[in-house]
Order: sequence, then C-alpha cells, then structure tokens
Amino acid sequence: KEKAQILDDKGMRRAMVRIAHEIIERNKGVENVALIGVRRRGVPLAQRLAKYISEIEGTTVPVGILDITLYRDDLTTLANQPQVHQTEVSFSVTDKKLVLVDDVLYTGRTVRAALDAIMDLGRPEVVQLAVLIDRGHREIPIRADYVGKNVPTSRKEVISVKLTEIDKEERVIILEG
Ligand code: 5GP
Ligand code: MG
Repeated sequence: KEKAQILDDKGMRRAMVRIAHEIIERNKGVENVALIGVRRRGVPLAQRLAKYISEIEGTTVPVGILDITLYRDDLTTLANQPQVHQTEVSFSVTDKKLVLVDDVLYTGRTVRAALDAIMDLGRPEVVQLAVLIDRGHREIPIRADYVGKNVPTSRKEVISVKLTEIDKEERVIILEG
C-alpha cells in the first residue's frame, strides 16, 4: 500500500544532477573518476550520473556494473546475505576514484559485498558511495558520501524506486510493510 511519494521525476532529476555536481567538486574534477552501478537500479542511476557529469564537465567517465543480490539464508535464519554474481568492469580500478552507485542504502551489507568485489579487481585510490535513497537501519559502519534523499523508514516499510529505463515510470514512494 502506498504511503507517501518521496520524489517525482523532477525531484529525481534534481537530486541526481546535484550529486553529479558534488562528485565533480569533491574530486576536484573527474580525472580518474569512474562509476560502478550496482545492478539492477544502480546501473541506470550510474549512467545518468555519467551523462550529467559529461554535460557539466565535457568529460566522459567510465561506468562499470556489479551484479549483487540478497538471498535469504534459511539455514541460519540470519539476515539476507549479499551474493556477488557478475562484474562487468572493463577498465582497471587501480588508482581510480571509484563512485559506487546504488538506489537504496539499508543495512549496508550489499555495499560491503561490493567493496569486497572491487578490492578483488585491483587497488582503487578511493571508493565513494552514492545512493538515491538512504533509508537508515545500518548494521555495519558504512555511510554514503552522496545521498539523493534521506528517508527515515521503519523496518517494515519498503521504498519503491521506479526508473524510466527499467519500469517505464519515474518516482520514489514509501510502501507500507
Ligand atoms: P542493504 O544491503 O544495504 O541492506 O540493502 C541495499 C540493497 O538492497 C540495495 O541494492 C537495494 O537495491 C536493496 N534495498 C534494500 N532496501 C530496499 C528498499 O526499501 N527498497 C528498494 N527498492 N531496494 C532496497
Ligand atoms: Mg539492489
């Protein structure tokens, strides 16, 4: 059940354009900057950031993809465990300023798995994290460097992120759990 709309298409565009500016400012330009989107909805978000960055700076930044899903570990009844499936990173991560991009940050476990996968590929100069929504409830010491919107949630609630490229609509809403 829909509870509240967090962002419409214009709000999402503003948030992502702002993050593009913040990435450029924090890194004093985009030399050696590369983006890595976490599948599924982190990928179009990373591609949008790359587009906005190229519009602002006139420089294209590479975009890679990490495929990480959460699976329920029924044997131990622990929380969901992230599993890294596939990496599509066609550039060397060594000495890059990497910006990991995902739609929603929650416990932080997906980001932790993403960092493991990245470190397996090489040694970046720095890794930063950009998320469209930070919904709180971190279980490990992970924080985002760039946040579209902080949305305090209960654990029961779910954030629905709809992106044109995948969902043919563009908005973020809170769903009641
Ligand atoms: P975490 O690993 O931080 O617990 O969860 C983050 C991952 O799970 C992200 O890749 C994100 O796509 C997904 N996720 C966690 N909570 C939500 C949510 O409320 N809504 C959506 N759309 N994805 C979520
Ligand atoms: Mg995800």
